[in-house]
Amino acid sequence: MSIWHEYIQATGQLPEWPYPVDYNKVNEVVTDVLVIGGGVAGLQAAINAVKKGVKVAVAERGHAKRSGSGGAGVDHWHGAVTNPCSKVTPEDYTLGCYDSMQGWTGGNVRYIITKESWDTLLECEKMGIQIRDVRDEFKGANFRDEKTRLMFAYDYQSKHILRIWGYDIKVKVYEEARRVGVDIYNRMMVTGLLNEGGKQGGRIIGATAVDTRTGEFYVFRSKATVIATGGAGRLSLFAPELTASAAMADMNSAGVGQAIGWNAGAEFVCMEASEQGRLTGLGYAPYSMGNASNTYHGTPIVDADGKELPWVDPFGRELKTVEDRFIPQEGQRFQLGIGIGISRTNQEYRLNDIPPDIPERIRKGEFKLPLYADLSLLSEHERRIIFGMMVGNEGKTRIPIYDTMTKAGFDPDKDLFQTPVMPLEGYFNSCYWAGGPNTPPNVRMVGGGGFLVDWNLRTNLEGLYIGAGSTLFGGGCHGESHTTGRYAGRHAAEYARTAPEPLVDRQQIEAERNRAYTAVKQDKGGNGWKEINAAIARIMRDYCGRHKNEMTLNLGLRLLDELKTTELASAYASNPHELGRLLECQALISVGELAIKSSLERKASNSVLDFHRLDYPEMDPPEWNKLLPIRQENNKVAIRELPLDFHLKAPYAASYEENYQRYA
Ligand SMILES: Cc1cc2nc3c(=O)[nH]c(=O)nc-3n(C[C@H](O)[C@H](O)[C@H](O)COP(=O)(O)OP(=O)(O)OC[C@H]3O[C@@H](n4cnc5c(N)ncnc54)[C@H](O)[C@@H]3O)c2cc1C
Repeated sequence: MSIWHEYIQATGQLPEWPYPVDYNKVNEVVTDVLVIGGGVAGLQAAINAVKKGVKVAVAERGHAKRSGSGGAGVDHWHGAVTNPCSKVTPEDYTLGCYDSMQGWTGGNVRYIITKESWDTLLECEKMGIQIRDVRDEFKGANFRDEKTRLMFAYDYQSKHILRIWGYDIKVKVYEEARRVGVDIYNRMMVTGLLNEGGKQGGRIIGATAVDTRTGEFYVFRSKATVIATGGAGRLSLFAPELTASAAMADMNSAGVGQAIGWNAGAEFVCMEASEQGRLTGLGYAPYSMGNASNTYHGTPIVDADGKELPWVDPFGRELKTVEDRFIPQEGQRFQLGIGIGISRTNQEYRLNDIPPDIPERIRKGEFKLPLYADLSLLSEHERRIIFGMMVGNEGKTRIPIYDTMTKAGFDPDKDLFQTPVMPLEGYFNSCYWAGGPNTPPNVRMVGGGGFLVDWNLRTNLEGLYIGAGSTLFGGGCHGESHTTGRYAGRHAAEYARTAPEPLVDRQQIEAERNRAYTAVKQDKGGNGWKEINAAIARIMRDYCGRHKNEMTLNLGLRLLDELKTTELASAYASNPHELGRLLECQALISVGELAIKSSLERKASNSVLDFHRLDYPEMDPPEWNKLLPIRQENNKVAIRELPLDFHLKAPYAASYEENYQRYA
């Protein structure tokens, strides 16, 4: 019996907790570099730190072999602009992102990514990840370079996004980490960072964790620390029964990295930014419905009578051929692609797509629902690269989508793939499975804000580096996570080589230990973690939703605080797993506070950040065109101002390349 419900059906009872539990045991691990979070970014940080000759430990919440968003696979790798076929330079690509976001993304992080993304991918290839069409399955296809056998996505002319066979990428990176000698501690719920002298804002010298199987406490002492914990899901929506089939994100993405950083005194920017939480459990299983976006980019969509929807370029001009969908049009330099951690793209860089006025055209009767993806209208190469290569390697598609549909008889050569039937506004873009209208606008997700870092990917705190996609201001997606992890690991190791020994403050450790175990000492009548998580999400939706004012934000803060001292203070955990989830709830509250406090400081509305202050309705007033780095000092908010292009101002050099040469 391998799965839960088979066990329950066969035995009619819940299993005993299978691991020995000891909440009193304290383990101490001493290392040069500690990496918190063993996703692709964390493992790359660890591998690259070890290569510098230092001792490295990874503390991972799940099991690093498959954990994190990248654990389910990947089919396209962005930003590999230095590959031999690319027509885009690092500077072009960085400016494409930076200008599209009108400066509201970390240009330093973007440049580092584009300089090193291709090199990182080549290292992945050496680990055994297939990045070329080595079996010549797509020989002659217009998205393939015959010499290198590299295959491109989205923009076949500029050739900076690569199609890769990444269903097992995480396993390969994990094996490499083991091979080079990284110590991996799985099932670790990291609860807090340790500061030198136990003082908020002091140098970071390690972290504490609870083993979610044995309940034992861990103290990690390190000279340098890298946070690589991924996003903050579950903050404004919590529906655990939906996560298995429908949600995009990983259950373990509970914003712990941001929370521990915030509590230790690290600086953040743009945490007031948010986006509609489109990829929540209220949509459809990822990639499971007919659509023409992302992995399915370029797929023809037909209506119920077989009438094909047009494709247009970013300027609204209708495209004549299928081939046109994959090349930049007049007035464009190159097409950036989507899903790279930027919420808007200038016309100059935007993808060709199905026109945004389709909802209106359906309403007027021009197209009849349901709509269908019709892969049979594509050439053989295009059809097979989408269904069979990309669907099959992309995260969460290999078994749930490709395998299931194929076994059920779906044949892309002749069958139509139905898109969801939903309120018309859901057809405004072609990523239909996200199920836009099923998710209310007050369900938000963190929108591009994160740790503020310098050109070393170091935070304001000595010894603390960030390597990640979504926790980093300027971070992106899969390739970006590998690349920033790799860079942060190198720099953390470099620092650790000459850094003083980490002398921990015993009082700080004891305080953390007491906090961590409160829930196992409670009366069994207390609330469980699910109730607490649902309450946090409700508070965030109501008081820090799309529209807010000073009053709602302050009420939100008060309610989060009350939750800490009432329901959370008396919450009960019956085993180490539940304890881990409750500790995540504490982290979610910290992230919620960080988002609300950041929102209170920005007294203006901002269109790029999708930030709407009802009490300051003027959109984008120029005097607010600045970052507001926020941190805690003696548990009070400390704020300062920073220009958007701080990364090209003193003490840094005025050009991207000069800075890269100086710091990389
Ligand atoms: C289904 C799916 C498909 C995707 N497809 C693509 C794609 O095709 N192209 C692309 O560019 N991007 C894609 N992405 C995004 C990409 O996978 C992510 O951006 C990337 O994997 C993030 O890596 P990361 O290491 O920064 O974070 P994560 O993968 O989130 O890893 C964070 C790690 O930290 C651990 N952790 C969390 N909390 C703690 C704690 N308290 N203590 C210890 N450890 C902790 C987690 O368990 C996890 O292992 C996809 C994502 C999903 C979900």
